[in-house]
Amino acid sequence: MRAPVIDLHAHSTASDGTLEPEELVRRAASAGLGVVALTDHDTTAGIDRAAAALPPGLTLLPGAEISCTVETGGRRVSLHVLAYLFDRSEPRFAAARARLRADRATHARRVVERIAAAGHPVRWERVQELAAGTVGRPHLAAALVDAGLVATVDDAFTREWIGAGGRFWLPRTQLDVWETLRLIREAGGVSVFAHPFASARGVTVGPEVIVDLAGAGLTGVEVDHPDHAPRDRARLRALAAELGLVPTGSSDFHGDGDRRVLGSESTSWESYEALVAQAGGAAPIRR
Ligand SMILES: [Zn+2]
Ligand SMILES: [Zn+2]
Repeated sequence: MRAPVIDLHAHSTASDGTLEPEELVRRAASAGLGVVALTDHDTTAGIDRAAAALPPGLTLLPGAEISCTVETGGRRVSLHVLAYLFDRSEPRFAAARARLRADRATHARRVVERIAAAGHPVRWERVQELAAGTVGRPHLAAALVDAGLVATVDDAFTREWIGAGGRFWLPRTQLDVWETLRLIREAGGVSVFAHPFASARGVTVGPEVIVDLAGAGLTGVEVDHPDHAPRDRARLRALAAELGLVPTGSSDFHGDGDRRVLGSESTSWESYEALVAQAGGAAPIRR
């Protein structure tokens, strides 16, 4: 028997994905997945909808992808931590996620104001329309395309516009990573450092930060990710083995029109079981 494909990182319209949560789990089942994790940015709003539409034979791992920062080498670097199987009703972590969502919206609004103040026809109402769920930078980029200011979303993420350090880029308030790990653990969840070496997304941290995170209770590290080159994967796999971190693999699927394909990267059964065994805040969802 072939082992089921396990993909532990996917987004729906609850954040910046293009598929509704119900459609996402249907796609996961037709792609032959055995387990899919729903990990929307700073929100679990899609979990119940995905669970209600879960096709038989597919397991849903409830999660979220938390935006945070770490101070390293005298600068502040953004990073993403995947949280799985935490108690969604635990008040401190729930409040932190709500704060992040509010900050995201305020931040996006300030960026839009700056672009409009420079004389460009971009409206906040339009950005909100383009974002069905949590407003994110992809929606800002979509609004720039929509207003005819740039040809593609990629053109928006340049220094001309909203790329890191660009004319209309603004830093965001994010959670401190140590606080994030503590909140996830106290809500009974497990934590996985998402795409640590995906340097195309901006500045990344060095291995010494992963060593410190492991010491602070990080559970695992995303080794196989579409934005990781073979060399990054080899380094991360070795680091995970050395530090006793659970290695995972995930597509980070965002829906149609995305170069990332559901199930194109996967997690071993052994890693999946190790994560589930260490979590106590919630259980994988099956019908
Ligand atoms: Zn991410
Ligand atoms: Zn993601």
